[in-house]
Amino acid sequence: MGMMRELYTQVIMDHYQRPRHRGELEGAELEEHLLNPLCGDEITVYANFDGDKVADVKFSGRGCSISQASASMMTERLLGKNREEAEAEISGFKEMMVGDKEFPEMDDLAALKGVIQYPSRIKCATLAWTAFQNGLEDR
Ligand code: ZN
Repeated sequence: MGMMRELYTQVIMDHYQRPRHRGELEGAELEEHLLNPLCGDEITVYANFDGDKVADVKFSGRGCSISQASASMMTERLLGKNREEAEAEISGFKEMMVGDKEFPEMDDLAALKGVIQYPSRIKCATLAWTAFQNGLEDR
């Protein structure tokens, strides 16, 4: 295992074992549930807004370390963002995961790209993000 890959694995395990903003928001303005049947992951994302700014965000669910760590990272990225910024974060992340483009500004999110060896796992990493995107579209 190379140095970068080891570092990436640590970043993911840290978010998996100590998830940020894990929990539920009763009666949240945004609540969206999504399954990844390929891996058995499930995620529900919740958010409340102040104007169009993400004032509170949480997630709950179960599944592989990639899916849960990615949801944790997402909550950190989206908190405090307005709708337009949140949409840009989500589409930027999904572009990074499917494409060859480098996204140095994505910091710890690059860890997800770094450990994913199989295209089928991309769905694990993007699950929470797609759920949030769907939730925004429904608003
Ligand atoms: Zn998974």
